[in-house]
Amino acid sequence: RVVTRFAPSPTGFLHIGGARTALFNYLFARHHGGDFRLRIEDTDRARSTEPAIAAILDGLSWLNFEWDGEVVYQFARAARHAEVAHQLLAAGHAYRCYATPEELEAMRAEQRAAKLPMRYDGRWRDRTDWPNDAPFVIRLKAPQTGSVTIDDLVQGPVTVANAELDDMVLLRSDGTPTYMLAVVVDDHDMGVTHVIRGDDHLNNAFRQLALIRAMEWQEPAYAHIPLIHGADGAKLSKRHGALGVDAYRDEMGLLPEAVENYLLRLGWGHGDDEIISRDQAIEWFDLAGVGRGPSRFDIKKLESVNGHYLRAADDDRLVTLVAPGVAAGVGRSLSVTDIDLLRRSMAELKKRANNLNDLASGALFLFRTRPIPMDDAAAKLLASADPALLRRARAAFAQVDDWQVATLEAAARALAEAETVKLGQVAQPLRAAVTGAAQSPGLFDVLTALGRDETLGRIDDALA
Ligand code: GLU
Repeated sequence: RVVTRFAPSPTGFLHIGGARTALFNYLFARHHGGDFRLRIEDTDRARSTEPAIAAILDGLSWLNFEWDGEVVYQFARAARHAEVAHQLLAAGHAYRCYATPEELEAMRAEQRAAKLPMRYDGRWRDRTDWPNDAPFVIRLKAPQTGSVTIDDLVQGPVTVANAELDDMVLLRSDGTPTYMLAVVVDDHDMGVTHVIRGDDHLNNAFRQLALIRAMEWQEPAYAHIPLIHGADGAKLSKRHGALGVDAYRDEMGLLPEAVENYLLRLGWGHGDDEIISRDQAIEWFDLAGVGRGPSRFDIKKLESVNGHYLRAADDDRLVTLVAPGVAAGVGRSLSVTDIDLLRRSMAELKKRANNLNDLASGALFLFRTRPIPMDDAAAKLLASADPALLRRARAAFAQVDDWQVATLEAAARALAEAETVKLGQVAQPLRAAVTGAAQSPGLFDVLTALGRDETLGRIDDALA
């Protein structure tokens, strides 16, 4: 049974690279009918924070990456990690090292001076003349000769000579486990079969494997995925518009399925398919399709994918999502009638928006109180329009009993014909008058949505 895991360190927000790692783990597990587990690597007590944990859980829930089983908190398992270190010690696969920090610093200084790679030299590896009551760390007795090859499912075979790896610390002198020990023990205890993570962890894999082999545990398969870069090719940072997942939702007004689709295509491909549903992704996802080169983050692309999903989204859902933004924009809460108006207008409104923020601001005109504000383009349009024509349009609409798209449009067409002008000459100033903007959803949809009194009142305001 396939078991994957997402193992974020809660030292900051859930960033886009982390979300993609989570997605790949999620899809791989679902594709194989296995489990996707979540482990919070909170062993760095100084840098791990509760808000960061909350942001990770919140971000994953928003993206709908449901994990299986309970969340594993690494710090809570410290006793188990220590137990394994002592087991290795008892079996002769680890040893006590009494080297003091000063001594190790002197060793490193010498290596630095001799331009040698900095590595623990194994000075306590074979000693048993342990001083009484002195603090010691437990180090892995790693192989010193030969080499290790990892058949990485993304990178291909990668080999490192054992001579390049030193005897890493497993347990510190205060009895706390190191990160390397914790990761290996947790992956084993959680039954992880596939370790899918950023390729910044590839170097760690060789050391982790030495530990796994010392314990004679089942080795997981590894897939180290290339990091995400900005459009300029540099490692992704805030400067590239890379934000926490919460900002994609709250500040950019993106839909989770759009972010997911974009992340999927970032480093993985299925032919030329751009829009891929969750179900299709589960069916198609494989590690062989993950590219070896870094992928480029393109915020414009993300926004355009979002526009696609926005237009495909259910209107009721969009109403729920934008209502708070609309209420904030008009400075009052929305009534039941307002919500109904928003719902009836949604099919038209969503054609013009690429994100929820634009959708909310595009809906504001519906709820403004008279006289509504005019943007520059609308004001210009009205200033250059013939007020007599607008007055006659008002009169024509005032005659319409059955306030419907078809009847209103017929009235406008009849007027344009009678005046021998184009329909646009009637419609454009009308649009400006009733929406305060030069662009809007279909004019007659707008008039129907606003209703007779509000429409005539807004035209009066524009003529006043
Ligand atoms: N906690 C590590 C990180 O956030 C991931 C460790 C792993 O996946 O093995 O980068």
